[in-house]
Amino acid sequence: MKPFSDVIVVGGGPSGSFTALNLAKLGASVAVFEEHSKIGVPSHCPGHLSIKGLKKLELYPLSAEIVENIFYGAVFHSSKGTSFSVRFSQPVTCVVNRVLFDKYIAEMAEKAGVHYYLNSKVESLIVEDGFVKGVYVRKKGRDEKEEFLAKIVVDAEGISSRFLRLAGLSGLNRQMVVNGVEAEVENVENVDLNMVEVFFGKDYASGFYAWLIPKKDGKAKVGLAAKTRNPHELLQKFMLKHPAAEEKLRTAKILHVAFHPLTLGGPIKKAYSNGFLAVGDAASQVKPTTGGGVVFGMTSARIAADIVYEALKENDFSSGFLGRYQRRFEEVLGFDVNVMLRIRKMLDAMSDQKIDDAISLCKKLKLDETLQSFEDIDFQGQSLLRLLRSPKMFAVLSYFFLLYLTANV
Ligand SMILES: Cc1cc2nc3c(=O)[nH]c(=O)nc-3n(C[C@H](O)[C@H](O)[C@H](O)COP(=O)(O)OP(=O)(O)OC[C@H]3O[C@@H](n4cnc5c(N)ncnc54)[C@H](O)[C@@H]3O)c2cc1C
Repeated sequence: MKPFSDVIVVGGGPSGSFTALNLAKLGASVAVFEEHSKIGVPSHCPGHLSIKGLKKLELYPLSAEIVENIFYGAVFHSSKGTSFSVRFSQPVTCVVNRVLFDKYIAEMAEKAGVHYYLNSKVESLIVEDGFVKGVYVRKKGRDEKEEFLAKIVVDAEGISSRFLRLAGLSGLNRQMVVNGVEAEVENVENVDLNMVEVFFGKDYASGFYAWLIPKKDGKAKVGLAAKTRNPHELLQKFMLKHPAAEEKLRTAKILHVAFHPLTLGGPIKKAYSNGFLAVGDAASQVKPTTGGGVVFGMTSARIAADIVYEALKENDFSSGFLGRYQRRFEEVLGFDVNVMLRIRKMLDAMSDQKIDDAISLCKKLKLDETLQSFEDIDFQGQSLLRLLRSPKMFAVLSYFFLLYLTANV
């Protein structure tokens, strides 16, 4: 049977649509199957993105409709109410409307020739002689499944990652998955519109942190993730009880709320097999420190598109050939992911008291200026290396690293 298209992409999120867009630009025929009726809906993510990362992807500037605010830095709060801020001279991050952002990428892909099939849930993979050869799709309202063949299937289905095992790969590290909650609120008080805020505290967000992202329209995005317990209850407790958050959020009204997990374990060790590649959250291409996966997912999507196109030219869809994808994205993300995994472990192991000590020390030593060289929030390993050139910062980082090594955190 003739392939339906060169490439089938499962999922029309940013990673799937960006893979499709780049492949279509190279000349491949691509079909995207998306289970929902609209791209970007439902949204579960505040969309806090680095401007540098978007520029590297040639996606910035974005339209004013998509960008809800821009930020010059961040304020870090301990659970005891101690705060420390880092402000840059230029905007470093922005918050986007994720529905409009996802739609924008999909519309560019469609213009480049990609075919989108909405309300079309991929139920399973077609595997023959050890090769993924296509997908079984159930369209909304239909009882029967349809078969669609392709030379390569790109799995961009997000964190559910149901198809990795069917393609002969290991799943995500579920020990490193945290439960997230994201809300839009109004009536927020005492916020600096140009700064995002990060709140630590194991009683509110064990294994992660809580955030407050103000929007230009006066509303804000508030959320947290935690290893345990019901994130909705934790969010209410955080808004009313966290010493640094309650003065801003006590009277805030939640307009809507969404729940979704985040994967913090770093990219899976093998994201390819015969006729198959996984990108984005499906391959856990997410920053282990912040859970940010849009820029990393799209960076990997662009690499996936290049390798898939090379495979189409060579007519070689074997895992031996597609292994180039893993090597190339590890070259780009590997060092930074390894550093971020260590930082995540260190933060998880630090008590609230030690985090308070660290924030107090940064404040006392006036490290805000030194931290100006941490301007790349995506590639945090390289940013840390630049920071080590400062003797003050070297001393502080060595102190906390020693505490970590001696398990004294
Ligand atoms: C609470 C929370 C806060 C976050 N905050 C940020 C942040 O501020 N910045 C940031 O960069 N990242 C953030 N993230 C992570 C970010 O949301 C993800 O990394 C990003 O959405 C990954 O994109 P993706 O395209 O890989 O997957 P997704 O965006 O999850 O897209 C997957 C798509 O596949 C579709 N799909 C799934 N299964 C099927 C199927 N079987 N058939 C057809 N379609 C299917 C889905 O409907 C969806 O459209 C956050 C995540 C959470 C949960």
